[in-house]
Amino acid sequence: MNKADSERMAGILENMGWCYTENPDDAKLILYNTCTIRDNAEQKVYSYLGRQAKRKHSQPDLTLIVTGCVAQQEGEQLLRRVPELDLVMGPQHANRLEDLLQQVFNGEQVVATEEIHILEDITKPRRDSKVTAWVNIIYGCNERCTYCVVPNVRGKEQSRTPDSIRAEIVALGEQGYKEVTLLGQNIDAYGRDLPGVTATGRHKHTLTDLLYYLSDVPGIERIRFATSHPRYFTERLIHACHELPKICEHFHIPFQSGDNDILKAMGRGYTHEKYRRIIEKIREYMPDAAISADAIVGFPGETEEQFQNTLELVEDIGFDQLNTAAYSPRPGTPAALMQNQVEEEVKSDRLSRLNHLVATKAAERSQRYQERIEEVLVEDQNPKDTSQVMGRTRTNRLTFFPGKIEELKGKLVKVKITQVRAFSLTGTIYQ
Ligand code: SAH
Ligand code: SF4
Repeated sequence: MNKADSERMAGILENMGWCYTENPDDAKLILYNTCTIRDNAEQKVYSYLGRQAKRKHSQPDLTLIVTGCVAQQEGEQLLRRVPELDLVMGPQHANRLEDLLQQVFNGEQVVATEEIHILEDITKPRRDSKVTAWVNIIYGCNERCTYCVVPNVRGKEQSRTPDSIRAEIVALGEQGYKEVTLLGQNIDAYGRDLPGVTATGRHKHTLTDLLYYLSDVPGIERIRFATSHPRYFTERLIHACHELPKICEHFHIPFQSGDNDILKAMGRGYTHEKYRRIIEKIREYMPDAAISADAIVGFPGETEEQFQNTLELVEDIGFDQLNTAAYSPRPGTPAALMQNQVEEEVKSDRLSRLNHLVATKAAERSQRYQERIEEVLVEDQNPKDTSQVMGRTRTNRLTFFPGKIEELKGKLVKVKITQVRAFSLTGTIYQ
């Protein structure tokens, strides 16, 4: 989501006439789009900022901006810490960058962190890829997971209308994009805040309805979406993914913990049994679907036994990929105030044990690709071996194979898999 925000803001800057430079020390304007999901993400910006703030002393016309979740969380305090800053701007204000910069150029120091209605974006993002694109469908999050800073910094849920989403994707199709990933912190919440109910009393605009509405956009061959929440994941959605040929068989459904008491303390609103049922259901419809997730170790009070339940879930489900993290206390969240914090050494020990299991299971899952013929959407050259190109299978496995990027970029290619690794594959074009 941060990448999508960065691309939108870069688009606004480009539209204003700014151009991009590789070397930050040459830049006349620097925008740091920040993340505060864990402390180590937050700390990064301070180290970068220090250097540029110093440069500003000899180069007063340098414009320094901090956007994103650290900006939202720290607000005015950030100005006190780094007085050289010109603009501090929360994620909800991303589309207002041009207006806010005008105020800066008029000599003001601006802090924009108030909760606002997010404006439809009229400028085109400066997208990193010409093949795959991010498309926000819902901003913010109304959940209250006790460890999580997102609702504080990204505000209340705001869905975009189906028509504006479709218009963006139609334009992407016309520009030659082949794949879109629909984005939301809790994408299953899509449409809850839009008006309209059906005859049976459910919301008129749900993620499932949106997928049907987007499924025939010309040129777009693949549709993905993230992030799913187990609390709201429906069989209707699974059915749609099965039925609609463009929806890829890959589901990113964080479970966070395999222990019911920890899940409760996290405020997640489901049990590990429910999570397992969702995955079973997906596999009933699509036996080969890839499943990925996020998990946290060392949530306050987590015992060794409770951690074992997470290992057990990972062992049983066999994820294709799992993003793991040691619990990091975040300002303004209930879990940060809990008295029973887990020691850092215990957290890092659990993290490495979990990562070890994840790699083993992912390698097992990769085995099924051996000798298979997979459809790969070519995105780029392999940076480590320029005689190869790289792309992803429908199930989101990174795949390398010999070929020329000038000929293959943006093409769907049948590839015979000859080598499998835990998180990637190698093959050759299948004629
Ligand atoms: N909206 C998504 C993900 C949000 S943040 C969801 O509900 O799953 C991405 C991931 O960061 C989370 O899934 C969680 O695993 C991790 N995360 C969030 N807060 C964290 C914290 N305080 N410490 C460690 N990991 C955290
Ligand atoms: Fe954070 Fe929970 Fe919202 Fe995800 S659903 S962004 S983890 S509060």
